[in-house]
Amino acid sequence: MKLIFLGAPGAGKGTQAEKVSEYLNIPTISTGNIIREALKNGTEMGKKAKSYMDAGALVPDDVVIGIIQERLTQPDCENGFILDGFPRTIPQAEALDRMGIHIDRIIDIEVPDDTIAQRVSGRRVCAACGSSYHLDYKKPQVEGVCDRCQGALVQRKDDQPETVKERLAVYHEQTEPLKDYYAKSGKLVIVEGQERVEDTTALTIAAVKE
Ligand code: AMP
Repeated sequence: MKLIFLGAPGAGKGTQAEKVSEYLNIPTISTGNIIREALKNGTEMGKKAKSYMDAGALVPDDVVIGIIQERLTQPDCENGFILDGFPRTIPQAEALDRMGIHIDRIIDIEVPDDTIAQRVSGRRVCAACGSSYHLDYKKPQVEGVCDRCQGALVQRKDDQPETVKERLAVYHEQTEPLKDYYAKSGKLVIVEGQERVEDTTALTIAAVKE
């Protein structure tokens, strides 16, 4: 199954993508994680992306399209995948169409902006493996330590309140039009984000099974 997870930054699409990835046994491909990894490794692409990312802006389309093109040729994508955070603009969606990839479903996780701002402030990520946690909703077993690899949990620079405001503005302007783009294909399913993560997961899994 080939899925796209849409939603504002902080709507919980990454968490839901991870759950569905386990459920369907297909990889999650997060352009944000790939870019953060490149940044950590000091690659040219990482250096190019840093200033955009830190400012809460989108990295140029040609960079992320290149990342996706390369990643989707890996053998683990053969039986399907979940795109988390791609496409984020109409040109990116058009590029994906041109790659001839047949997407089965687009899941849009909807959460109001004020709830997002509040949630994102509690978000923490593992500096080593990128796993995501939350101070209230998804606590690690040991405070400040990643359950998966024991790495240190940190707040992303772009999760600071001013940057979150900018990322939400960018989302509404550049990414939200994708809802109309995909609604036309009849494959868009809207999932209302719930207070409890597990309730949203139940709705998301049902949307995938529909
Ligand atoms: P995320 O972890 O998905 O919230 O992504 C973090 C940041 O990476 C975004 O704010 C952008 O700067 C960049 N990024 C990730 N995916 C994309 C994309 N598809 N298009 C442009 N920029 C992206």
